[in-house]
Amino acid sequence: MAKSLLSTLRTTSRLATHSPHLPKSYTASKCSTRNFSATAKRPLMELSGFSEEQLSVRDAIFKICSNFSDDYWMEHDQTETYPHELHAALAKDGWIGIALPEELGGSGLGISEATMMLQSIAESGAGLAGAQSIHANVYATQPVSKFATPDQRDRFLRQIITGKWRTCFGVTEPNTGLETLKLKTTATPTKDGSGYTISGQKIWISSAQVAQKMVLLARTTSLEDVKKPSEGLSMFYIDFDLSAPGLEAKRIRKMGGRAVDANQVFFDNYLVPKDSLIGKEGQGFKIILHGMNAERCLLAGEALGLGYAALGKASRYAKERIVFGRPIGMNQAIQHPLASAYMHLEAAKHTTYHAARMYDRSDPNHKDYDPSITQYAVGVACNSAKYLAAEAGYTACERAVMSMGGMGLAPVSREMIMNFVGEKVLGLPRSY
Ligand SMILES: Cc1cc2nc3c(=O)[nH]c(=O)nc-3n(C[C@H](O)[C@H](O)[C@H](O)COP(=O)(O)OP(=O)(O)OC[C@H]3O[C@@H](n4cnc5c(N)ncnc54)[C@H](O)[C@@H]3O)c2cc1C
Repeated sequence: MAKSLLSTLRTTSRLATHSPHLPKSYTASKCSTRNFSATAKRPLMELSGFSEEQLSVRDAIFKICSNFSDDYWMEHDQTETYPHELHAALAKDGWIGIALPEELGGSGLGISEATMMLQSIAESGAGLAGAQSIHANVYATQPVSKFATPDQRDRFLRQIITGKWRTCFGVTEPNTGLETLKLKTTATPTKDGSGYTISGQKIWISSAQVAQKMVLLARTTSLEDVKKPSEGLSMFYIDFDLSAPGLEAKRIRKMGGRAVDANQVFFDNYLVPKDSLIGKEGQGFKIILHGMNAERCLLAGEALGLGYAALGKASRYAKERIVFGRPIGMNQAIQHPLASAYMHLEAAKHTTYHAARMYDRSDPNHKDYDPSITQYAVGVACNSAKYLAAEAGYTACERAVMSMGGMGLAPVSREMIMNFVGEKVLGLPRSY
């Protein structure tokens, strides 16, 4: 499993295939075989403590992702083309339904395994683009699975699992930002009671150009008329049909992460059937939190995946790149920040998989259900995981980029500036 990851990283390295500046020794065949964690012998991430299921997920996902090279991701980013093939490959082998019930065709596993799946996608080199093309289908469907009627679940979720449909997540609005309880998009019952008309605007909706369904949070009671601010919102699982009247999605131009579209979505009396409502009217905020906590775990996994992938590439480069007569990784200014980033990733990994376990075990249908785990505790754990993993992943990527100098597109060398000041100003011995 780890072998397949590392060979993927190695054999698909964009730098290795395109850069004339890399040392000639930077090839898969000449990589060191020392028992150092960035070699093929050991995975970078410590794997002890994971369940058999999680390790099998990791193995299988790396195998699938090894068919998607760095060049594939580069091209899809530059041409702003959706990575349909990854979604199709994962759906074909049943991975989209990893955390959905077996009776609907899913795997019946939990967010603990789904987090490993999203981490592995990101870590394979697919990065955030790969993860973003999949994750809403996993987390946004959690509240549908938990709160829909059996009939709704049957009609809505099977096609997500087979990959025929894709889902997007419609919460954020341009004028309310993170103040979700103030959101303004309305769902108004039709006069004949057969449905709702949706009016309002959403922003930053990922995958709206390719989705057939949307998990929508909309206001069914005005803010002035509710007892508690959290009570006027309802969650819907709607058909997202851009050819129907009253619905429009406009792509937002971005400077990065361009393979997966982000959109402004406009609803103007867009009609949806009554049974698009999931759970009770007015309870949508509480219901959708089950999706948001799952999302936090998946995003934490993705941040870890990015961090480990970056450290893997950087430490291999630091071993091979010779300047001033020695590998750059011999300099502690390069080595120590990478080692520190690794330890932060490992710590964040524990927090992440602890949160995912809490999420799973707070579900009464889970085999290891623990009624002592409150939703409050799940929220704290999932938020903490997302925060710590994002920090650790960001630090690892930043340090990896700096270690790779020009190959990391880092035009300024902090280390050489500090060598200069240390030696010339402070009078310390020259360190290289
Ligand atoms: C690429 C991308 C994809 C996304 N995909 C989706 C999606 O599919 N579906 C979806 O619903 N949303 C999506 N989002 C939206 C995302 O989840 C956030 O809700 C959104 O980015 C918040 O941005 P804002 O500008 O509205 O934040 P604002 O609420 O305007 O906040 C701006 C800044 O101020 C800070 N801030 C605000 N209030 C406070 C406070 N009280 N104290 C301290 N700091 C504060 C915030 O942390 C933030 O840094 C996506 C966003 C991006 C960028």
